[in-house]
Amino acid sequence: ATPTALLVGTGRGAQLGILIKGPEVLESTRRVDTVVLDKTGTVTTGRMSLTSVHVADGVDEAEALRLAGALEDASEHPIARAIAVGAEARTGELPTVDDFRNEEGIGVQGIVEGHKVQVGRWDLPLDPSLTAAKQAAERAGRTAVAVAWDGSVRAVLVVADTVKPTSAEAVAQLKSLGLKPILLTGDNASVARAVAAEVGIDDVIAEVLPAGKVDVVAQLQRRGQVVAMVGDGVNDAAALAKADLGLAMGTGTDVAIEASDLTLVRADLRATVDAIRLSRKTLSTIR
Ligand code: ADP
Ligand code: MG
Repeated sequence: ATPTALLVGTGRGAQLGILIKGPEVLESTRRVDTVVLDKTGTVTTGRMSLTSVHVADGVDEAEALRLAGALEDASEHPIARAIAVGAEARTGELPTVDDFRNEEGIGVQGIVEGHKVQVGRWDLPLDPSLTAAKQAAERAGRTAVAVAWDGSVRAVLVVADTVKPTSAEAVAQLKSLGLKPILLTGDNASVARAVAAEVGIDDVIAEVLPAGKVDVVAQLQRRGQVVAMVGDGVNDAAALAKADLGLAMGTGTDVAIEASDLTLVRADLRATVDAIRLSRKTLSTIR
């Protein structure tokens, strides 16, 4: 490909809302056959809200909300924002936290009101009175967040996210270009399947730790697949860098954007399709 044609392609990309790191990026885009999509913030809006609160027998709902809300107030994760805002609206000012720790892809922990509190998907026993609420939420494609203190899960907070209105169309277009979409997420498998079904993705890889996303990409590459990865989070950065083509949502974190070859300004998945079409077209006019 001539440098001039690639530069023209780069300019056209900017018009489509696709920022391209360098003209050579269009070359690798052409060979992509697999598109790995992060769920939260990529296929979904990532704008979550707290929809319900379930407590174990004998547990005070306001206490559960205060403890969870206080911890999540210190985190930038979309789930954390929903919980902090929802808890403050329901209970008032949130208490302070000591020894705060954020475990990427798992959740948060710290000392609140004298208790060691953990929020997220930590490996802790669930009070049996909460099992049904957790399962019902997950079947409905919602995220059930466990709130544990003093060693066991005493409340489940249900947080709902919504699929972006353009995601299903983007997935259909990717398939029509002969590309295989795969949903990759740290979230629970039933939530992931519900979202995948809503947008038309058949392949789901769920409950993957942040460090594991890059391994998934590497494994696909070892099988000979040429992989594009689309993501937005800190937890996606390594996978975005490893992929043959990394695409970051413009609304995503700086690390994700830095790790990527392309940035989708409008955070609309259809721009992924535009990028692949553009590179195919740019490169075919050159030949
Ligand atoms: P995704 O891969 O969909 O972008 P993440 O890797 O960021 O999701 O998070 C994976 C899962 O870890 C979430 O679905 C949630 O269950 C849990 N989690 C991560 N961070 C938090 C947090 N701050 N509070 C509660 N749960 C969290
Ligand atoms: Mg994400």
